[in-house]
Parts: sequence; C-alpha cells; structure tokens
Amino acid sequence: MHRHDETCYAGAADGTRRSLLKSAMGVAAFAAVGGVPWLLPGLAQAAALTKAQRDAMTPDQVIAMLKEGNERFRAGKMQGHDYLAQKRASASGQYPAAVILSCIDSRAPAEIILDAGIGDTFNARVAGNIANDDLLGSLEFACAVAGAKLALVMGHTACGAIKGAIDGAKLGNLTGLLDKIKPAVAATQFNGERTSKNGAFVDAVAATNVRQTVEEIRRRSDVLAGLEKDGKIKIVGSMYQLVGGKVEFYA
Ligand SMILES: [Zn+2]
Repeated sequence: MHRHDETCYAGAADGTRRSLLKSAMGVAAFAAVGGVPWLLPGLAQAAALTKAQRDAMTPDQVIAMLKEGNERFRAGKMQGHDYLAQKRASASGQYPAAVILSCIDSRAPAEIILDAGIGDTFNARVAGNIANDDLLGSLEFACAVAGAKLALVMGHTACGAIKGAIDGAKLGNLTGLLDKIKPAVAATQFNGERTSKNGAFVDAVAATNVRQTVEEIRRRSDVLAGLEKDGKIKIVGSMYQLVGGKVEFYA
C-alpha cells in the first residue's frame, strides 16, 4: 500500500539518520583535524549531510570540502551518488553547508562540478551570477534561517552574460540584467582589446563581476555581513574554468 511504503521509507530514513548520528561523533573528531565528512567511506554516497555534521563544520572546512569535491570531479573520481537514498535521507529536513550563487550556463552546474549531492548545497542561479533583492533574500534564508556556513559566488570563464554586458546587448528583460554587470566592465583594468571577442578580457570582467557581487552582498545585506563579522559564515568568490574544470576560490 502507498501509505505503508511511505512508512517504510520514513523508517529507513530514520535508521540512516541514526547510524549517521553515531558516525557524526567520529565525524566531529575527524573534522577537528581538518577532515571532510563527505569523504568518509560508505557515508558519502547514500546520505545527505546531517544537522550534526553541518553544524560541526567551520566555513573554512566547508570551503575545503567543496575544493575536494571539485578535485574529485576534475579527476573523474566522483562519489557514486545514490540519489534515491540521498532523497530519502533528506526528505524530513535539510542541512546544506553552503549556498552557491552561480550562472545559469548549462556547462557550469554547481553540484556536479563540486561533486555535491542532494541536500548538501543551496543553489541560486542567474545569468551572470549577479545579486538583486530576491537573490539576497535567498542567500539570507540559506545562511540565517537554514544554517549554511558559506555563501559562494561562482562565476565562470567564457560567460555569455558577461559578453552581452560588454557588447551592450539589448533584449527584453535581459537588458536590465546586463545593466547590473556593466559596472564590472567599466571597473576592469585590462591592457588589450576590450571586446567580447577577446576571451582574456571577458574572463577578467567575469572575475571583477564576482568580486563586485561579493562586495554587493556585504554592502546590501546587513544580515549576511553581520553573520560574516561574527565568524558564523564566510562570503567568498570563485571562478569555474570551463577548460580543465577547476574552480578557483578567491579565499
Ligand atoms: Zn555565464
């Protein structure tokens, strides 16, 4: 019966949680020496992060965890994600370690390139990874309400939104979005051709845009700036290289 199935799943999820909580004590000791809970054998693939695991982590440990996930991705040694088990383990609650603000580009899916699973990260995506009131509100929810320890802004190379801003492209509602990137175009110091045809300039603007978005988050969100000041979270920029697959952290 349907209800019976749900009960069984709930029981399985509880069982998983209990065994994870037991492991969490080991995780705390592991984390204290700089270890990464996601990397524990047998734990990572089938389970979402538990509250105990997430709460035991510092912002720097979350950064280390994401860096190691990206290393696994680049090496082609991703975790064997059991998404159905992760779904069951996280259905009754979520304890993501980070919120990631990244571009909509189809080649830059944050969870995949950081080898994260269901329940591990909040993800906000918008062309050109800019911040506006709604995105700031989303980041505030993720960190202040739901307990994420890291707000990561992630740009990427060869970004079409950056190219559009450089070119002054105009199209419907996109025009207003690109206007938010234009200050980064103007602020980018660059010796060479300042056009969208020049990949080096496009990537330099993308880097400026990430740094400006990080500063805008601090400037326009007292909630997030306060959490960062108190050492509860970090707000960090990063850049994903489409060629090679490395995520460079500006931290
Ligand atoms: Zn993009």
